[in-house]
Amino acid sequence: AAHNAAIAALNPRLNAYITTTPELALAQAQAADARIAAGTATPLTGIPLAIKDLFCTAGVRTTAASKILEPFIPPYESTVTRQLLEAGTICLGKANLDEFAMGSSNITSGYGPVENPWKRNGSDAKLVPGGSSGGSAAAVAARLALGATGTDTGGSIRQPASFTGLAGIKPTYGRCSRYGIVAFASSLDQAGPMARTVEDCAILLGAMAGFDPHDSTSAERAVPDFTAATGRGVKGLRIGIPAEYRMDGMSGEISALWEKGVAWLREQGAEIVDISLPHTKYGLAVYYIVAPAEASSNLARYDGVRFGKRVDGEDLIDMYERTRAAGFGPEVKRRIMIGTYVLSHGYYDAYYLKAQKVRNLILRDFNNAFEKVDAILTPTAPSAAFGLGEKMDDPVTMYLNDVFTVPASLAGVPAMSIPAGLSAEGLPLGLQVIGKHFDEETVFAVSAALE
Ligand code: GLN
Repeated sequence: AAHNAAIAALNPRLNAYITTTPELALAQAQAADARIAAGTATPLTGIPLAIKDLFCTAGVRTTAASKILEPFIPPYESTVTRQLLEAGTICLGKANLDEFAMGSSNITSGYGPVENPWKRNGSDAKLVPGGSSGGSAAAVAARLALGATGTDTGGSIRQPASFTGLAGIKPTYGRCSRYGIVAFASSLDQAGPMARTVEDCAILLGAMAGFDPHDSTSAERAVPDFTAATGRGVKGLRIGIPAEYRMDGMSGEISALWEKGVAWLREQGAEIVDISLPHTKYGLAVYYIVAPAEASSNLARYDGVRFGKRVDGEDLIDMYERTRAAGFGPEVKRRIMIGTYVLSHGYYDAYYLKAQKVRNLILRDFNNAFEKVDAILTPTAPSAAFGLGEKMDDPVTMYLNDVFTVPASLAGVPAMSIPAGLSAEGLPLGLQVIGKHFDEETVFAVSAALE
C-alpha cells in the first residue's frame, strides 16, 4: 500500500510506470502475507517490483513503450516474471522504457520520457535516467519499487543502473529465458535484475534464471547460489584492465573512478593484470549493424493483423503501411530501415556478414583475456546522466553512450554495473565488472567488493 501511494504521488512527474497495477499489487500482497503466515515464503515473498513493460504479463497490458502495442493484453506470462511471481513477488506496474528497448535515454518511448530522480548539485534541470530500462531504474531509485526487471541488448540494464546509482546485471546470454519478452535483437537480448545492492540483484537473479524448454537459446545449466557468491571476496582473483577501454577523450572523472576501483580491489587482495581486447573499437559498429538487422526481422510481425493496433486502409498493403506508419516512432523506423538495408541482397556480405565475422573476433578477444584473468573491470558509461533533450539532434552521438557496454553483449558474457561514486556535479557513476560465460558468481563477488 505504501508503494502504491508513493507511485500515485510521484509517477505523474517521473513517468517511470506506463501502467500501474495497484489492485493486483494489493491482492498479491495479501497472498504473500498468507504465505508468510503458512511458513512457505521465499526471501522474495512480498517484495514489490517494477516490471519493464517488455515482459508479457498475463492480463496486464504490455506495450513495449510502442503505440503499435497500445491495446495489447497478453494471454500469457513471460517465464522470468512467472518465476518471480511463483517466488511471491508483487507486481506494482509496468515500467517505461525506450520504444522496443531501442535507446539509451528513455526518450524514444511512445508514452513520454522518464525523469531521473537525481539532479545536478544546485540545479533543477531534468536529467535522463538512461535507457532502455529507464523506467525500471527511475522507479527503484525513487523508492517506487524495491527492485525491477530490466532487459539488456547492448547496455540497457547497466547504463541506466549507472545513471541512477543502482546495481544491475546482464547475465550470460542463455541464463534467463527470453520466452514472453518482446524481442528486439534475439541473439543479444537478456533479462536481468536492477536493485539497490549487489546482494538484492543476486537474490532476484536466482529466481529469474534457469532453463526453459520454451526458449531454444536458454541454457541447460543449474542455477548456482548467487547470493552466497556475493560474500566470497576477491582475494587471489586476477582482474583485467583492458587498455582499449582507455578511449581518447575519456573524461578525467571517469578515469579517476576507474583507478579508484582498481585500488579498492587491489587493497582487498586482487591481482590487477593489464589485458588487451584489440577489437573493442569495432564494437559499436558491429552492434549497430547486428541489432537493427535482427530488429527489422523481429518487428515484421507488427502488421496490424496479429497484434495490437490496426489502421484500416484501401487494401492489405495500404493497411500494413498505415498501421506501421502510425504505430512506430522515428527511432524504431530508423532501425528497421538500417536493418533491412544491411540484410538486403547486395549489401548483406559487406555489412551483416562482415559484422558477424568481427563479432566473432570480439568474442575471441574475451576468450583470450579470460585465459589470463577471472574478471574484467571497466567504467559502465562515458559520462554521468545527461540532460533531457541533450544528444537528440544526432542519433550517432546517442549510440556512443554504449561504447563500454556493447562488447560484453556481443560476446554474450555476463556484466554488472555497480554504483561507485559521485561526479563533481553530484551524480552517480558506475563501474562495470565483466565475467566469463556462466560465471556470474565471480561477477557478483567482485561487484560486492566494489560497493
Ligand atoms: N542503447 C542500445 C540501443 O539503443 C542498447 C539498448 C538495449 O540494450 N536494449 O540499442
